[in-house]
Amino acid sequence: MHDTFNQGLIEFLRASPTPFHATASLANRLQAAGYQRLDERDAWQLEPGGRYYVTRNDSSLVAFQIGSRTLLEGGLRLVGAHTDSPCLRVKPQPDLQRNGFWQLGVEVYGGALLAPWFDRDLSLAGRVTYSRDGRIESQLIDFRQPIAVIPNLAIHLNREANQGWAINPQNELPPILAQLYSQETPDFRALLAEQLGREHGLVADVVLDYELSFYDTQPAAVIGLNHDFITGARLDNLLSCFAGLQALLASGPEQSCVLVCTDHEEVGSSSHCGADGPFLEQVLRRIVPEPDAFSRCISRSLLISADNAHAVHPNYADKHDGNHGPKLNAGPVIKVNNNQRYATNSETAGFFRHLCLENEVPVQSFVTRSDLAAARPSARSPPASSECARWISACRPSPCIRSGNWPAARTWPIWSRCSPLSIAAANCRSEMGASRGSRRLVIIRAIRRSPARPCPRRCCSPTLRKRPAHR
Ligand SMILES: [Zn+2]
Repeated sequence: MHDTFNQGLIEFLRASPTPFHATASLANRLQAAGYQRLDERDAWQLEPGGRYYVTRNDSSLVAFQIGSRTLLEGGLRLVGAHTDSPCLRVKPQPDLQRNGFWQLGVEVYGGALLAPWFDRDLSLAGRVTYSRDGRIESQLIDFRQPIAVIPNLAIHLNREANQGWAINPQNELPPILAQLYSQETPDFRALLAEQLGREHGLVADVVLDYELSFYDTQPAAVIGLNHDFITGARLDNLLSCFAGLQALLASGPEQSCVLVCTDHEEVGSSSHCGADGPFLEQVLRRIVPEPDAFSRCISRSLLISADNAHAVHPNYADKHDGNHGPKLNAGPVIKVNNNQRYATNSETAGFFRHLCLENEVPVQSFVTRSDLAAARPSARSPPASSECARWISACRPSPCIRSGNWPAARTWPIWSRCSPLSIAAANCRSEMGASRGSRRLVIIRAIRRSPARPCPRRCCSPTLRKRPAHR
């Protein structure tokens, strides 16, 4: 089961180099599972038992199923994640000619580590808006092949390179696309028009605008001597989008569930399609239009904000509080901050722990060192969700704070073999906190833990991912 989940995740990462592609990947999977696409411009006829999704800006998505249980009785079970990652975005007038090279001016999107962008085989993807026969249309493109590189300066010319080196993004980050010969004049928009034709057979009259970002072409992979780690760009936070999708697709028919994957978390979430914007609330109000019923439904709902947590990096262990350093392959992490940087409270955390215990999933806690400020997680404050009295910040550990955003991306998050946790908002039977037998708010769909040690009798596969015959 781990291999199936992990390979699905790796394929999802490969198909999703940008938030636009991530949203399209989610939409394709939902469509294949029978979810019906909704258009925000249309009137919606939502039916009990119906399964729907809607996108905004092609980069955010809300998917939901309306269960047979009434919304006033069961509320909504929501999982929130984000589709974007720090990257290098191409500027509007990007063409640069310097010393016989064609380069592109780029802007840093989000809080990116810059050094890992050097010496990588970079490709380019995103959305292009163009006119054709008087109509304005948009299309996603992905060059797929390595078409650019940001070469490091040789150490012979920079003897201070290993002594701490501040990177100037304006001067040092423009990727090199090509060498120019004689009278050649670079034209980025002409390149995009060519790509539209090559990739989609489209003939654009004018390329009007675009949102394009560079990405590392090295694919995600399961790595390590014993296959302990998954590495890959954009694991923060596409892994939560993927896990949330699996949870939604696995949900039973009774409970109403919502998956919300939003763009612009890395830059504050406050855009019209971000988690702190109106998107989710506007969708929820169309599911429950009557104001009083909406408030009652929300008060019975729970949102899990799913993202990455920072596991202890063995070379920087002192960056963590000694009692709260999340470990890899040791279960999901509940993030707590008493200054309310995270939404978790003792009731939601307690309930999450209860579910983990029930499903034999180990669970961890994360508290930032008292002398460090806590980062703000995704889906922290969508208005509709903050009306939701109960929510929790639950994350999977990865050791480097921004590693999920490395272009080379070599994040090692999670579990290649242990406790991947799909949070299924399914089969809810009661209010949280109500101690009424086995009734529970959400089902945690846990993939049971495989043993972390090889068979003690040495008679089984030495590969730790395989369960020994003897325990
Ligand atoms: Zn994140």
